[in-house]
Parts: sequence; structure tokens; C-alpha cells
Amino acid sequence: FGPSCNVSQVDLSHHLSSEARMRKPNPMKEIWKLTRRKPNMVSLANGDPHFSLYPMRRIEYEMASIEEADPVAAWRKAGPSAASTKLVSSTYEPCALPLQTGLQYSHGAGLPDCQRVVTELTKFYHNPPDHVCTLALGNSDGIAKCFRLLGERGDYFLADEFSFSSITNVPLAQGIKWAGVKMDDGGMIPEDLENVLANWDTARGRRPHVLYIVPCGQNPTGSTLSVERRKQIYEISQRFDLMIIEDDPYYFLQYDSLSASTTDFSTPFVPSLLSMDTDGRVLRVDSFSKIMAPGMRLGWITSSALFHTHLVSYTDASTHHPHGFGQMLITELLSGPKGWQIEGFDRWVRSLRAEYHRRRALFLTLFEREVAPTGLARAAVPEAGMFVWIRIALERHPRLRGDLRRVPGGDRAGPRTNCAALMEELFERCLDAGLVIMPASIFALPVDAKDADVEDPVEDRLNYLRATFAGTEEAMEQGLAILGQTLREFFADEQ
Ligand code: PLP
Repeated sequence: FGPSCNVSQVDLSHHLSSEARMRKPNPMKEIWKLTRRKPNMVSLANGDPHFSLYPMRRIEYEMASIEEADPVAAWRKAGPSAASTKLVSSTYEPCALPLQTGLQYSHGAGLPDCQRVVTELTKFYHNPPDHVCTLALGNSDGIAKCFRLLGERGDYFLADEFSFSSITNVPLAQGIKWAGVKMDDGGMIPEDLENVLANWDTARGRRPHVLYIVPCGQNPTGSTLSVERRKQIYEISQRFDLMIIEDDPYYFLQYDSLSASTTDFSTPFVPSLLSMDTDGRVLRVDSFSKIMAPGMRLGWITSSALFHTHLVSYTDASTHHPHGFGQMLITELLSGPKGWQIEGFDRWVRSLRAEYHRRRALFLTLFEREVAPTGLARAAVPEAGMFVWIRIALERHPRLRGDLRRVPGGDRAGPRTNCAALMEELFERCLDAGLVIMPASIFALPVDAKDADVEDPVEDRLNYLRATFAGTEEAMEQGLAILGQTLREFFADEQ
């Protein structure tokens, strides 16, 4: 599962940052590899604590049984008495990844057994041509590593104009700037991406060479890119020589047609950008956070061999591979004697998406009951993920100044309206009423003032809130009732 050379991929080494080029491989790890040069090598080389000194010898995981037709529903419903499967990682019992290996120092790519199972998983869902997997500590870590791999101080990266700020704030300290791409209900608009690239003024700096994108259930807007848009975006990336960071934690949470109340388990997932990547320009980042548990802090990056090698070097010089506990569990689950295997994993994630589909349906029903009748807000129905993007009809607010609609050709610089201030006030009122909900302002891509869109300032488009249906039914019920009532009061307020 190490890097392999593929002549069909394009040479993309010019995308590497000077930091990545200057980084030397960890010399200790290079020597460590030599212990596997031939069988029975004797090592006096490493300070590896011997496994007999680990104060643990057995870990048991009680996992949901995937024998049921809808395993997630069965697991939730029966709680502590739901059918389960017990898996074991042990020093002395047979298992897929024994403790003496799983808890030892290992390679930056991850423990080879775990790297093998996530490679098989990636092949099963995406079948990418000639790519290699590198373990990471979830998507946040994986993406931060990709930014370091590709970003040079002064570079511009591209992203949706509303993006997940927990990620888009990360490379700012590296001296990277953002250029926003416009979105509609279907996510990033390929024509606008092309427009930004084709009309790039090099006085600003070199043309952006990295695109950060969330193709399914985008955070915060909940939008999902159609296959057609994905193909267009990939083609534009080839034409303008872009690297793509495909951040896809909601891949498995894709829902059926908007009206259906239950999910057909067999519906195929939309093809990823990785699956289309003949050039080796996609760095896809996957996570177990949304499909197992966020505290696992485990994910993986799939890339061409070139970028894999540099990711490994960076990992060996920073976090080192993710903790052994999570890697042992995943290895046991996907390949161990009693594990789910990939077929069982597939049954679990398809059942999970049915569960989130039910939650989405409940959220929308409650929204229709509690908020829609006010006529003051509209919810965009997400085709994936766990977020609903709610547009607030600020044009109906008695204290709105200016026109929310963009005037084509208007030459006014700066905001036309007091949208930002009113939304701030609405956010405070929700808080006072006991509701925490995310304001659009925190997702506006952090662009430099000199790069802001003066014709259509983002401050005039902040009339959105992000709500999630990931929580409990009570939270949705109470939260949407508070939102409906707060909107009524806020819009009735003349002062
Ligand atoms: N990327 C996006 C778009 C997300 O929505 C999230 C979590 O909410 C993450 C990344 C973080 O994922 P992880 O927990 O794997 O770091």
C-alpha cells in the first residue's frame, strides 16, 4: 500500500509548497524501515517500549450488530438491550491487529493493516485510479496538512463564498488568502469558478492553484453538487491547473428524492471528484467523525503517490500517525474475524443515512408547522449532510434600510443595506429566547477587504441561519418553536 509510480498521472509537483520541498524525511523512520529489509533482522535501533511492558493486553469493543435490516434503527430503539457484536484487540488472542503492533510506533501513513482496510474501503466506494491513502486525525487535521503541503505565503485559495470557517480560518496564519466562488442551491457555480480564474488579475498574486470544496451536504448551506457540476469543476481544474481538496465528511449521508419519506437503501452514492481523478490532482479527505464518532479523531487522505509521500513526511514531522486504539478498532471492524467487513459497514452507513433522512423529514415538518406560517423564513431542503440553510425574509422587516436585491451594474462600494446589523440583532434575540443557532456571518469566507466583492457585498447576503437536524427530536421541536416565535416578535418590532 505504499506509493507506486504511475505514468498516466500528470506531473503536479510544481504545486508543492516550499515548506513541503524543504522538509526532510524523518531519518529515524528511514532507519526503522530497514528492520523489515529481510526476515529475522535484529534491531538494536529504536527506543520502542516492549509490548510486555504495556499495562494492557486486551480491549473489547461492543459494536452494533449489522444483522438487522435497518441496523441503526434497531440499535437506537433497543438501547442497552440491542443486539451487538463483540470485537477484541489483544496481545495473546487471535485478532486482525494485535496490541503489540497496534500500540507500537509506526509509519506516518498509519499502521499498515489499517492503511490497507481504508484503502479497500476507498476502492469499494470510489475506485480511484492509482491513489494512496494516508491516515489522519480526522478531516480537520487532514485538510490542515493539505494546506501546508500546497500553500505558499501570498497564495490565494478558492472556496465557496460561504464555507466552514473552522477550516477556512486555518491557512490564514500561513499567509494564504481566500478568493470566493459564488453558489446557488446546487452549491458552487462552475461558471463563476471559471470566471474567477479566467479574469484573475496577476497584480493580486499568482492565479489560485488550490480549490477547497465540500461536494455533499456543504457546511453551512447543505447543498450537494450534481454529477454534471462535478464533471465541470474537474474539467475547469484541469484547464486551469488547480489542485482540489475534496472535503467529504457527509458522503454517506446522501438522501433520496426530496419528497420520499424513507430512503431506498440501494440508491447509489453520487460519484466523488476522486473517482474522476485521472490526473492525480484530487486530495480527498474522509472522516469517521460523522459515521462512527467524532471523538475517534480518525480519517484519511487519498492522493497520488507524490502527495502521499509528502503527507507522510509532514506527519512524521508533526502528529505522527493517529493513535493505535482507533486504528485497531477500524481494522478489527473491517477485516477482523468477527468484524462487520466492508459489506456490513455498507449496511450500517446506508441505514445511518435512512436515520438522518428521517430526521431531515421531521425537521422540515416541524419547520412547516412552526416557522413557515410566519412567512418570514424559508428552508432549503438539503440532499445530503445534516444542515438546513434558512433564508430570513429581511425584505419584510420594518427597519430594513436599502434593497437586498443586487442592482446589476451598480457602482456603489460597500454594503447597500443594514442586513448585517439586523441579523446580529436576530441572533441575540434567539439567544435571549434560549436558542443557539448559527448566523451566516461566521461562514462568510474570510477575504481581505481589498478583495471583497464591492458590487454585491457579502454583508447584504447575510440573511441566513444554519440549523442542524443532527440533535434530538426535542431540540428540533423546541428550537423551531422558539425560532418561529422570535421571528414573529422581531418582525413586529417597529423601533
Ligand atoms: N469538514 C466539514 C465540511 C465539516 O462539516 C466538518 C465537521 O463538522 C469537518 C470537516 C470536521 O471533520 P473532523 O471531525 O473529521 O475533523
